[in-house]
Amino acid sequence: MEQQLIDWLVARLGGDPRLDVPNGDDAAVLRPPAGRRTVFCTDMLCEGVHFPRAPDYDPRAVGHKAIAVNLSDVAAMAGCPEAAVVSVSLPREGGQRIGEALLEGMLAIAERFEMPLVGGDTTSWDGPLAVNVAMLGSVAAGRVWRRDGCRVGDVVLVTGAVGGSLAGRHLAVEPRVDEARLIAEAFTVHGAIDISDGLALDLSRMMQASGCGAELDLAAVPIHADAVAASKRDPAGGTPLMRALGDGEDFELLISLAADDAERLLEAIAAGRLAGWPGTPLTAIGRVVAGHGLVAVAEDGRRSSLPPTGYQHAFT
Ligand SMILES: [Mg+2]
Repeated sequence: MEQQLIDWLVARLGGDPRLDVPNGDDAAVLRPPAGRRTVFCTDMLCEGVHFPRAPDYDPRAVGHKAIAVNLSDVAAMAGCPEAAVVSVSLPREGGQRIGEALLEGMLAIAERFEMPLVGGDTTSWDGPLAVNVAMLGSVAAGRVWRRDGCRVGDVVLVTGAVGGSLAGRHLAVEPRVDEARLIAEAFTVHGAIDISDGLALDLSRMMQASGCGAELDLAAVPIHADAVAASKRDPAGGTPLMRALGDGEDFELLISLAADDAERLLEAIAAGRLAGWPGTPLTAIGRVVAGHGLVAVAEDGRRSSLPPTGYQHAFT
């Protein structure tokens, strides 16, 4: 029953100083952080698209992902997560168990990033599981990261490693919230985007928004071990590099900084001078150039046009 799940959740939720009215009322009332802008985003996950079909999904992992992908969007704006609301369509069969496990997965990561769940809606139906999260964040006025601010001469950096996430990593998303906050506190970032649909596609989106092009040093792209393993298993699906460029669901950050700032940032991390840095690799993979589109630069210096491969939801 819906009420049973809501009662369980309200009892499970802790309080939060940002909440002006305790959980369980018609709507959440928040105390907005003074002097900051509101970041607001939403992301929906559907069974069979963003996670496996029943009975092959772990509802806890789905809950984790639903919060993590929104945190990734907030991080891509250099935002601090403040609150989230959750809407779920539960299958009638096993809905209570699925709902509780889903919310436990959500609460575990929400608590880790000190972000309260402040409300939501539950329905049940004869369809598959669908989960939507809407998230609020905040950012100091004038300090937000945008995708349209890249400048010619910038260096493009990527967090972590990319490719092959469908082997399982796409569920265990690690949002780069702390990395974004630490970089934003100490450096001026011209452009940023998170990689949801593929490095090449999301980089091309950032360049298009900025009215620039980018050169990508293929040998510098940090290829995840999952991409190497996936290519071994299924060579027809592309080389590890192709998977790194186009697989998507990596939820790493692409950021663009003036060349000397990028150098100082990489040095600060290498020397352990960025206090609190979680140890995530940060790699320079190319630079912003005049023009449009992406150019791949091979290790021997050969250049070729790079198609913006990646995942796009299809509909007519
Ligand atoms: Mg995004």
